[in-house]
Amino acid sequence: MLSGKLMETINRHTQEKIRIFKRCFTGLENVYGTYDITTGRVRQVKEPVTDTVIRNHLTGRQSYGVYLLRGEITSALAVDFDQNDLSLPVAFAAEANRYDVSTYIETSKSKGYHVWMFFEKGGVLARKARLVAQKILADMGKPQTEVFPKQDSLSGISYGNFINAPLFGRLVPKGRTVFLNPADPAEIYPDQWELLQNVRRITEGRLDAIMEGCRLDKQAPGDEKSEQNSRSDSDKATSSFGLPPCGRRMLAEGVESYQRVSCFRLAVHLKRNGLPFDLALAALQAWAKKNHPVDGKGIITDQEVEYQTKSAFENSYRSMGCEEPAVAAYCDTNCPLYAYKTAKQSVCRIGDK
Ligand code: SF4
Repeated sequence: MLSGKLMETINRHTQEKIRIFKRCFTGLENVYGTYDITTGRVRQVKEPVTDTVIRNHLTGRQSYGVYLLRGEITSALAVDFDQNDLSLPVAFAAEANRYDVSTYIETSKSKGYHVWMFFEKGGVLARKARLVAQKILADMGKPQTEVFPKQDSLSGISYGNFINAPLFGRLVPKGRTVFLNPADPAEIYPDQWELLQNVRRITEGRLDAIMEGCRLDKQAPGDEKSEQNSRSDSDKATSSFGLPPCGRRMLAEGVESYQRVSCFRLAVHLKRNGLPFDLALAALQAWAKKNHPVDGKGIITDQEVEYQTKSAFENSYRSMGCEEPAVAAYCDTNCPLYAYKTAKQSVCRIGDK
């Protein structure tokens, strides 16, 4: 039997956790989402978001999904990377960091990752938060990645879309719905509550400064997407395909050595960025013509390009190849992954096959 004093301490700790949680994952207060842990069936619950709802989430009884959008305001934003490829959220976090925007990577419930941003007390205009997140995704060559909230405001819609909140008690022991260590994303942050209590919040002024610097408000929402959809295949064959700086340079300038390794690495990048095999092959055969091999060596043949491209597409290689001389020669210190590469030499190989 627990003593009254101990019970009081436990209750106090639980209340403290609920308070921290609510400060981070606040949204609509009269509706939430949940799912059945065995069937996965998702449903909406039109009831108040009480402390009991949060406690049930944290203890694993029933999941809580937050509707982040309150009118046109949000206090948090999450980017949903649905692939088990840690290099994507890491690249997003590093890119955001260049704008002085702090982000926090969470393992989502079954696979993939959410990257969270938290905003100043009272929230910010969701439109601005979404524009900045979409700018970062566009820089990464991943503009189609889902962003929550999915809308700029609730006008014309009733609740928007919910996102499953982190720290669902049933999944935490499995290493899911937990935050990764910002200093070393390969590991789970040891004290989740300390992390959430001390999140660095982004002000609306910071979002304004980024929008101003990148001229984000000058472009009507959706322009970027329609512009992208209207690109012809030949445009696509000469664009940067969301490659890291090393790949962009190699593709644009051609290489003078390590042609086969370079071809293979470029093919891996193109595959990772969703290019179909035929288009990747066409792009790399065009690239080969730009190569300028030294010591009287010949340019890699179409057959060799095809061989390297096939090798890259037939297997799930994830390495960025940062450590290989063929790639390292084109490394750029402005690359979002560079800080991680130098801080921890293995980070570019997270999830290596
Ligand atoms: S850190 Fe350097 S080598 Fe690695 S992906 Fe970025 S530019 Fe390429």
